[in-house]
Amino acid sequence: MMHEEQYQRTNGNSVAEKVDDRRWVGGKTGLEERGWSWIDPHVHILPPRRMRGLVRWVRKFTPGFPVREDIGPEEIVAELRRSGVPLFFNLVFPLWEEETEDLNRFNRDLCAKIPEAVPFGSLHIETPDKERETRRCIEEYGFLGMKLHPYAQRFPAFGDEMRPMFRVLNEHRRPLLVHTGFDVFYGMYMDLERMERVIREYPDMQVVAVHSLFPRFRLAYRLLKEYDNFWLDMSNSISCMRMYEELKAKSDPLPSMAESLEVEEVDENYPWFRRLFEDFSHRILYGTDFPVGFGYHPALWMDLHHFGFGERVERDLLWGAVVNLLKKCGFAHLVPDFMGRGKA
Ligand SMILES: [Zn+2]
Repeated sequence: MMHEEQYQRTNGNSVAEKVDDRRWVGGKTGLEERGWSWIDPHVHILPPRRMRGLVRWVRKFTPGFPVREDIGPEEIVAELRRSGVPLFFNLVFPLWEEETEDLNRFNRDLCAKIPEAVPFGSLHIETPDKERETRRCIEEYGFLGMKLHPYAQRFPAFGDEMRPMFRVLNEHRRPLLVHTGFDVFYGMYMDLERMERVIREYPDMQVVAVHSLFPRFRLAYRLLKEYDNFWLDMSNSISCMRMYEELKAKSDPLPSMAESLEVEEVDENYPWFRRLFEDFSHRILYGTDFPVGFGYHPALWMDLHHFGFGERVERDLLWGAVVNLLKKCGFAHLVPDFMGRGKA
């Protein structure tokens, strides 16, 4: 996850801006009046101890972050329902090997009770038998795919150790969701050439770059063009790009907080950000990192709408691309009835 006040962190400016309360109001998004809906491919409902840890971590750089440490599944699901989300992906990832199996089982049991929830599994680099755990998730538990967060988990996602997982996902044509980007904020780096090699070597595994390599949109564009098993998830990146546009519009010179927004990098990549949607919206998902992203669904929908991409692109981001992904993975049965017509 990322939050706007996080930009304060790396330049020693301890005075965080006040949390914008308007972003943290739940309720209707207004999409239903258009006959639209939003499939959210990026939600975190975790076991209580991990949820508490995650919220505390966010508080470290976002004092006043309004989500409670003891927020539970019922409350998160109730908010998603209030915002009319008919389907969401629930993502977990182990911080140490010992919790891997428990966490995958937790996600299975949790999602079995929530009709809208689509569970994803995860692994740790120290998981001794990665093929077995991946097969358990995909074949036994019926999960859609797997998720890795190499920066939070602190190991490379695309190293050779992970090949047993790639092979199983490739065999089943399933997605691998991987956190990418926001390197300056995390103070970490990903070997992007290795990533590309994996995308190429496992052409049936659907690789979803969560956060869309923020802000390396030029590279994202090339990869979308070259590999049709490559997808983006714009979680948090849309909100950050809106902030970037607003910063650019009002202040010169830019405030010091802009440092970890990687403004120079974004400047260079900006034309490619726009081109992504022109040419590849059918493979661009828009998740939220809820409840630890940049706000509740109504505000996050407005962040997308701010760009004026037009209806075709908005519909693709809100559900069309997810529907395409589900169909490609053989999960068309999950597509809510009114969605996906003429979208194959
Ligand atoms: Zn996340």
